[in-house]
Amino acid sequence: MASDVFFTDMRAKQGLSLLDKVEKLFERAGFDKFIKPKELVAVKVHFGEKGNTTYVRPQFIRRIVDKISALGGKPFLTDANTLYVGSRANAVDHLKTAAENGFGFSAAGAPVVIADGINGKDYVKVEVNLNNFKSVKVASAAYHANAMLVVSHFKGHEVSGFGGAIKNVGMGLGSRSGKQQMHSDLRPQVTADKCIGCATCYSWCPVGSIKITKKKAIIDEKKCIGCGECTVTCPEHAIGINWLSDPDTFQEKIVEYMAGVIKNKKDKMGYISFIMNVTPDCDCCSWSDAPIVGDVGIAASTDPVALDQACVDLVNKQQPLLNSRLDGYVTVEDKFGGVHPMVDWSVQLRYAEEIGLGTRKYNLIRI
Ligand code: SF4
Ligand code: SF4
Repeated sequence: MASDVFFTDMRAKQGLSLLDKVEKLFERAGFDKFIKPKELVAVKVHFGEKGNTTYVRPQFIRRIVDKISALGGKPFLTDANTLYVGSRANAVDHLKTAAENGFGFSAAGAPVVIADGINGKDYVKVEVNLNNFKSVKVASAAYHANAMLVVSHFKGHEVSGFGGAIKNVGMGLGSRSGKQQMHSDLRPQVTADKCIGCATCYSWCPVGSIKITKKKAIIDEKKCIGCGECTVTCPEHAIGINWLSDPDTFQEKIVEYMAGVIKNKKDKMGYISFIMNVTPDCDCCSWSDAPIVGDVGIAASTDPVALDQACVDLVNKQQPLLNSRLDGYVTVEDKFGGVHPMVDWSVQLRYAEEIGLGTRKYNLIRI
């Protein structure tokens, strides 16, 4: 059976701004049906890396927050810390970046809670029993929320082809070490020159595979389970982050993380995606390259797979823009394949459908 995806284009007029359209989408998609008074409602956003300018603006988020508050819910804005050491790798930097990018209470209307805590170690292990993971590490604020609205900036992504609702939830709400697990299967290695022998990694390793000898950490590869805790813990960055992952496995892992995030709130999830500023890369970049197509609109659904599929299809109907990375590709049908030719972005949709997270069939309902 096909899922409903509600869509509005970019047209606006007196009395019907894009902000008003966000409210209409909220209502038509039925988000008001699953938000109950006094419930903690996570609004999953991306606060934007410092230097990035194409994340979803706080003004749009405010309308969603106000709708939740009007229903008696208790909204909070949330995202988990990043794996890479940028401007959002711990809660202090993350909150600072969020504030600098405009996500203060006065603009967004809700407090910001960093979902996996001060240093990315607040998570709940959720059993999924899937191909790559038996359990996943879900950022605790996401796990403990009663309901969630996922606000996504729909755009390209270097390893998954595009980033939409699935990527926003799966990668976005994994803890830092969970993100390491999604990014690589490789066992970590210590760079001896950088190691100061502080033993922080030793105390965090859950299986005792690290020993400190002559003030240097040594990892026993046979015991190591690749959990990533040491990588994200080392204050000297002496245990390198592994980014090596083939795009298919990477996408499968994101989907499995998503399954874990939504497991305890399957009927309490809503997704809204902004198909605007469709940049070739994600908002974790500290820059925003020129959009590859013109702004398309905003779409909402309770089915993340249908929503992502509809967004890809809508983008593929657009003309490539001059002075963008697709300049010269006048006839390219697959826009994300055009900018990331080594990636088959459909893997995330196929696999998400296969494990029951939604359907790729949809009815596009224009409002
Ligand atoms: S946490 Fe880093 S610096 Fe400290 S012992 Fe481990 S590898 Fe060395
Ligand atoms: S990846 Fe996990 S199991 Fe392996 S050494 Fe680091 S903390 Fe220990």
